[in-house]
Amino acid sequence: MEHYEITIIGAGMAGITAARRLIKQGRTNFLLTDKGKSVGGRLATRRVADGKADHGAQFFTVRTEELEEELEEWLNRGWIKQWFGDRYPRYTAIDGMNQLAQHLASDINTSLHTKVVKLLEIDGGYHVYSEDGSEWKTDKVLLTMPTPQVVELLKNSKLDIVTAELKRLKEIIFEPTYVGIYHFNHTTNLPENGHLDLDLPEGVERIVDHRKKGISQDTIVSVYMKGDWSRKYYGEDYVHSLIKEKTELYLEWSTLESEQLKRWRYAQAKKTIEQSYIDLSGDGRLVVAGDAFLRSNDEAGRTRFESAYLSGKDAAAYLSW
Ligand SMILES: Cc1cc2nc3c(=O)[nH]c(=O)nc-3n(C[C@H](O)[C@H](O)[C@H](O)COP(=O)(O)OP(=O)(O)OC[C@H]3O[C@@H](n4cnc5c(N)ncnc54)[C@H](O)[C@@H]3O)c2cc1C
Repeated sequence: MEHYEITIIGAGMAGITAARRLIKQGRTNFLLTDKGKSVGGRLATRRVADGKADHGAQFFTVRTEELEEELEEWLNRGWIKQWFGDRYPRYTAIDGMNQLAQHLASDINTSLHTKVVKLLEIDGGYHVYSEDGSEWKTDKVLLTMPTPQVVELLKNSKLDIVTAELKRLKEIIFEPTYVGIYHFNHTTNLPENGHLDLDLPEGVERIVDHRKKGISQDTIVSVYMKGDWSRKYYGEDYVHSLIKEKTELYLEWSTLESEQLKRWRYAQAKKTIEQSYIDLSGDGRLVVAGDAFLRSNDEAGRTRFESAYLSGKDAAAYLSW
């Protein structure tokens, strides 16, 4: 049976950053797993006709020197560009946000299509079980999926867990988000940079034209709905009609070619924790990280690309102590 020093579950920004950190420290005996067909998690980009659309994070901002340093390298490599904004410029990926995740994970030993369904604690280490029936041993585990999914996995597992830490983990609340993805055969009247998030109708968070954003040949538009709105209409089959009604002044629906809907069950944390990670085992062997874990001096105070980055980075430093 394979035996790793560390298993990282979840290859979103937090998991990828943790893995990159381990590599920098010279560690190679670890595995990064994800249930998806690509790395990136909520850094998600979809192909539509001859174009593409980001339908998770649209951009990221930088408030720490640590991410600033990476930023320079990513800009030099041609992976990202400054999109708009003055005080905190919005950076976005040249080929879509998922492509940035793929660049960042290119040197990492990653097991995709691997949904972890159970963890057992055996002889001071862990056995990890995936949905496809594989099993491996690991000394330590880093969980980086949205915390409700961590709680779900823990329910199916047999582990020695510090009760107070589990309680804190359960206090984190995630909100859903609906994103409508629309292909138009005509250009839109959205601003030149393709981004609109001001003075929108109630319930609409932002509208993005990806042709104007510069990542798509065709006019593919993502309409982001707010968390409260998405919770209210979660699971309803008339969400597209409501989105169209709400945005009729902004988009010319008669030029619509196709429509798709992305439903994020866990999009952004409404209630976060002021700590970069949680140690569930109490001795650094079972750690939870991700965007809902904010450093105590976090300026933005919200879950985002940078909080996932910092959480993954801090958790990796802790795990490799
Ligand atoms: C609609 C939307 C819009 C957003 N907009 C912005 C924005 O504009 N700017 C910004 O900064 N942030 C934005 N965010 C937030 C940002 O995308 C996240 O904060 C960040 O990407 C989260 O990274 P993460 O690694 O913590 O989690 P995730 O990206 O969720 O990664 C977790 C990974 O775990 C995997 N996983 C889950 N369960 C299992 C399992 N059992 N086994 C194996 N793998 C598993 C998932 O497939 C996923 O890849 C947005 C998010 C959404 C959803």
